[in-house]
Amino acid sequence: MDYQGHADGSAKAYSLEEHGPSFQLSPHFRLIEFASRDGADTVLVHPALIDALEAIREHFGKPVHINSGYRTKSHNRAIRGSRNSRHTMGLAADIDVRGVHPDTVADFAETLQPGGLGRYHTFTHVDVEGVSRRWDER
Ligand SMILES: [Zn+2]
Repeated sequence: MDYQGHADGSAKAYSLEEHGPSFQLSPHFRLIEFASRDGADTVLVHPALIDALEAIREHFGKPVHINSGYRTKSHNRAIRGSRNSRHTMGLAADIDVRGVHPDTVADFAETLQPGGLGRYHTFTHVDVEGVSRRWDER
């Protein structure tokens, strides 16, 4: 998987209406899975984020569920996300892997790339900002 190769580019912008919700971004992820939960048409997704999630999918051999991918700034404010959240740039996803403990998911995600990693009780935050920020909210 090609994380480093994508690390410097910016997120790509997709349109739910133009591409369709089922637009396949990669073998296991569709556009709608990354969409802002406020129903915005534009969806920002960084290719390196998709690569990271595919690597997690491949490693565990189980579906990766995206609780929160891209967030518009207003949606991020509404759910009280942190200011300048990587989610608003298409660089982050909060995920859980069916049947796998979040600690185990985080331990593997930590080996992938130099992006940010947040540990939570029920999910794992993965981002591809290129700075190794680590935090623990368990
Ligand atoms: Zn997050």
